[in-house]
Amino acid sequence: MESMIVNKNSITRSEYDVLIVGAGPAGCSAAFSLPEDINTLIIDRLQFPRSKVCGGVLIEKSWKFLRRTGLDIPESVFAEPGEMPMKITDMDNNFQVDVKRTFYNVKRNSFDEWLWKNCTENSNFSQLTVMEKFEKAKDGFLSTIKTPNGRKTVRSTHIVDATGAHSFTKTASGMRIPVLVAYQEWIKGSRQEHFGTIYSSETDGYYVWTIPKDGFTVVGTAFRPERVKEKISNFRKTVKSLGFKSMPERFESAIILRPCKDDIMFTDGGIMLAGESAGLIGPNTGEGISFALRSGEICAKVIERCTENPCHEYSESCMGLMKEIAEKGKIPVFDGNADGNSSSFGGTLKMNADRIK
Ligand SMILES: Cc1cc2nc3c(=O)[nH]c(=O)nc-3n(C[C@H](O)[C@H](O)[C@H](O)COP(=O)(O)OP(=O)(O)OC[C@H]3O[C@@H](n4cnc5c(N)ncnc54)[C@H](O)[C@@H]3O)c2cc1C
Repeated sequence: MESMIVNKNSITRSEYDVLIVGAGPAGCSAAFSLPEDINTLIIDRLQFPRSKVCGGVLIEKSWKFLRRTGLDIPESVFAEPGEMPMKITDMDNNFQVDVKRTFYNVKRNSFDEWLWKNCTENSNFSQLTVMEKFEKAKDGFLSTIKTPNGRKTVRSTHIVDATGAHSFTKTASGMRIPVLVAYQEWIKGSRQEHFGTIYSSETDGYYVWTIPKDGFTVVGTAFRPERVKEKISNFRKTVKSLGFKSMPERFESAIILRPCKDDIMFTDGGIMLAGESAGLIGPNTGEGISFALRSGEICAKVIERCTENPCHEYSESCMGLMKEIAEKGKIPVFDGNADGNSSSFGGTLKMNADRIK
């Protein structure tokens, strides 16, 4: 894998079967799931390999998905510890639950780089290339993309929008995108071997994650996007009260989607949306990688089948993912009988009752 050479600006034609916009997990999964004889161009506005703010925790579904598709995550992509159990803490009720499931711990940038190198095996890739506008054309679309060498017009039969929380399709159709500001700190030293999720009424309605990673602990949460500076300063106090006394070596923030049911949309005007762009991310967990990988693959399979109405088929095929998102709209309610099985996550806290229904 290390020796793979990637041409970072390779647009060899003006017509493609598929134009994939965004080379995160959703776009890469769509690209590597498409057969070689389908001409595919994948573009991304960032320079690659890219850097993505993330906790880098993979649930078992992501790991299993990659194994099934013949992609074994290389050792070099895992952080230390590579596998972790989860511990859920309810600070208000002074309650802890051990979850007997395995979570995989990766260096997110290495993970993305590895995915991207795999997807460029059978597609053209162009970095620093932005989707500017698109219009319907006979048998597909005409898109204007801005590359480092100037603007180009690309004709394609399909467009896959895999542009994450900033979906260009949703932006173009003026949709409200419900986002939170995620913030995390890297604190030197790690005193835990587990992935910690902490619930407290002192946070802004989101849980706090603590992740041991290569000699650091990554501690983060997400805020509603108002008075963010003040909330970060309060969060620093929470972090200290959790026992992380030293100053962070670095801190980072990024936008994260918190979708309601109406924000989930798989197609718009003939464009297929995959991953976070479609609204596929756990509203209360922030877990988005498994959804990105799986929706990207579903999209590719529908395109490959050349059906009459690919958008309809794609939406139908994603209903299972939609149900999972609704499940993830629930967050743990501690009933004192928790045994670490999923059955102990019975209900939905009142503050989320108006979200996924
Ligand atoms: C702080 C934080 C922690 C997280 N932790 C976890 C975690 O531990 N586990 C987990 O599963 N998920 C986590 N997530 C969520 C996860 O990162 C995302 O859900 C996942 O990356 C979504 O993948 P994607 O491919 O849909 O989009 P992205 O990874 O966001 O990729 C979208 C790509 O599209 C490109 N793009 C955007 N607009 C354009 C345009 N107009 N033209 C060209 N390119 C464009 C962007 O440059 C980007 O590279 C976290 C998110 C945050 C913010």
